[in-house]
Amino acid sequence: MPGLKLKNISKSFDNTVALDNVSLELEEGELLVILGPSGCGKSTLLRLIAGLEELDSGEIYIGDKQIDKLRPKDRNVSMVFQNYSLYPHMSVEKNLAFPLKIAKQSKDYINKQVTGTAELLDLTDKLKSRPGELSGGQRQRVAVGRAIIRNPAIFLLDEPFSNLDANLRTKMRREIVRLQKNMNTTTVHVTHDQAEALTMADRIALLDKGRLVQLGTPKELYSSPVNIFVADFLGYPKINLIDGSIKNGILYPFGCNLEKSFKTDDCNKITIGIRPEIIKMRENGLFEGKVTDSVYLGDQYVITLNFNNCKIVISGEKYPVKNGKIVKFTFDLKKALYFNRLNGDRISKIK
Ligand code: ATP
Repeated sequence: MPGLKLKNISKSFDNTVALDNVSLELEEGELLVILGPSGCGKSTLLRLIAGLEELDSGEIYIGDKQIDKLRPKDRNVSMVFQNYSLYPHMSVEKNLAFPLKIAKQSKDYINKQVTGTAELLDLTDKLKSRPGELSGGQRQRVAVGRAIIRNPAIFLLDEPFSNLDANLRTKMRREIVRLQKNMNTTTVHVTHDQAEALTMADRIALLDKGRLVQLGTPKELYSSPVNIFVADFLGYPKINLIDGSIKNGILYPFGCNLEKSFKTDDCNKITIGIRPEIIKMRENGLFEGKVTDSVYLGDQYVITLNFNNCKIVISGEKYPVKNGKIVKFTFDLKKALYFNRLNGDRISKIK
């Protein structure tokens, strides 16, 4: 299956810039998740690839072929929408067969494809049912089946799980990844859910206000975010972001020696990013805070502390702690992230 290339694409609606000079390249068979807050341009990006919107500028290629001037039906792209868009009066069988009928495929071929796709998606015993007789998860599977039955070059998914409950959503994420890997179809999946992006993506493209902020593997974005926006968008509980400074090699408000880890020694305005899971409550911890909250998440407690008037959240604790208790905690300074508070960019350490 060919890859996909977006070259300097831009799109505005009246005075709203939906996408601003975005370039991306997907390898063959890659699953790219487009992630970002509401209104950042995710759906517009998908609709431009599908041909449902026209580019203001830029180019789109599938493999070596430029497709941005082609009509949607000539692009060999399939899209699954949030609301499934199934034909309510048609059986599952007819819904699945529809794209192949339009493409004037033979009856034998259509029957073979419908049987195979229904088996793949565990829908064989639902072929005679209408969409209204199916559960949300089953409807979702029919929508996916209808999109993949044509063996598209590119598979596009726009927030496909937003109408499903949490359990089903987790299950469908795994199913889509399994299916996508089996078919090896280059896929662009849009979501605003960071957990979905982290669990499904080969790579994530994080957008903000129509701009591509960072492109990388889930691990790269989580561990090496380019700026505060990326660090804050990924991870639950959220990263602790604490205003601080470095003066003569000492990191405030923690009062620890950073031992020349940074190029700029004197940095008055920094933000220190500490993931909740790297902080540990220890009797011999270097720092002291007052507990303000303990939340039970089933497999762990999340504890909130007040430290020097900063809120610090710690995850992965086995036991709750009473509000008001003074506890000691520690973390590895080398694992913290440091940002320039003025522009939000991460400050690179000396290797
Ligand atoms: P959400 O997560 O809420 O679906 P999104 O990231 O998919 O948001 P888009 O739907 O791509 O965002 O919209 C990007 C921007 O472009 C928004 O400001 C939106 O209001 C605007 N926009 C999108 N489509 C149109 C349109 N047809 N007419 C006018 N403005 C539009």
